[in-house]
Amino acid sequence: MLIRKNRFFDSFRCIAQRCPDSCCKEWDVQVDEESARLYQNLPGALGDELRRVMTRNEDGDTIFTIENRRCPMWREDSLCRIQAELGHDALCKTCRDYPRLKHDYGDFVEYTLELSCPEAARILLTSPWEDAIVQEIPGGEAPEYDREAMDILLRTRENMYSILSLDLPVETVLTLGYLYAFHAQAQLDGGEETPFDIDSALVFARDMAKAGNESALVDFYKALEILTPNWRNRLANPSPAPWSEPILNLARCGVERYWLQAVSDYDLICRVKMVIASCLLVKTLGGDPVETAQIYAKEIENNADNVDAILDAAYENPAFTDDKLLGLLLGV
Ligand code: SF4
Repeated sequence: MLIRKNRFFDSFRCIAQRCPDSCCKEWDVQVDEESARLYQNLPGALGDELRRVMTRNEDGDTIFTIENRRCPMWREDSLCRIQAELGHDALCKTCRDYPRLKHDYGDFVEYTLELSCPEAARILLTSPWEDAIVQEIPGGEAPEYDREAMDILLRTRENMYSILSLDLPVETVLTLGYLYAFHAQAQLDGGEETPFDIDSALVFARDMAKAGNESALVDFYKALEILTPNWRNRLANPSPAPWSEPILNLARCGVERYWLQAVSDYDLICRVKMVIASCLLVKTLGGDPVETAQIYAKEIENNADNVDAILDAAYENPAFTDDKLLGLLLGV
């Protein structure tokens, strides 16, 4: 079985008290069954406290409900009480794993990091992009996906990485990547593999682009579920910034995370639109692009309802039409 790891996966270390945000804020923490049993049977004051804060959500999952926007196990010194008193291995799976992300396709597995973690975002968005580390290990299961479709997605994702690494301005590279996604989608739909001509693609993009509307794009995100007042404030006060390398790396991370997921429904375009729109949004909101992208990820990528809403909007919302997204990319 192949495993493909983002090259920063193994070296990631939580910065704990130095974290400018923290995964111990704002989110309910889902507690796996094994940890819940451990906590239910734990003697002493910590056990009593764990039993007090564990509850069930509407889906029947055991969770720690946040109190005052914080995990109730998060101490005043910004350390986790469970980790401090029982050690790392006693953390529930959610907290042990985060921000490590695993996509298991049966016969191969991919690992990367969540951009909603500020330290992971800093590393992934400010470091030069490099190929993932590929290793072969024993094990694996027969895949349930469509092999032919997955082969196309794996091959075209490599091509997409190459396009996103062209030595051209960020907005040009993103424009080419956007158009390449249609090229890849055509193959996924059964078309022949044909050469992707960069010069003709740029001429096509400039012909097609229509004046985009940044406000309409921001308004769309305002209507999604919002977790923090900070994000609401950022959406209310956009302050556009120039294109920058972290925004290009945001696109690369989106391609790494979402491209292969098109094997589930053969719809690559809606995922690439989501990635391109994330870059446009981060540029439009401005500020430090790494911080803006991290908040974006916390609000959007860690909320399945928000992700679904964007994938639906990719075809339905007037802010997401191809001509307008191209217009925003090209500054028309
Ligand atoms: S968000 Fe990342 S760096 Fe911050 S506390 Fe969580 S894992 Fe650590």
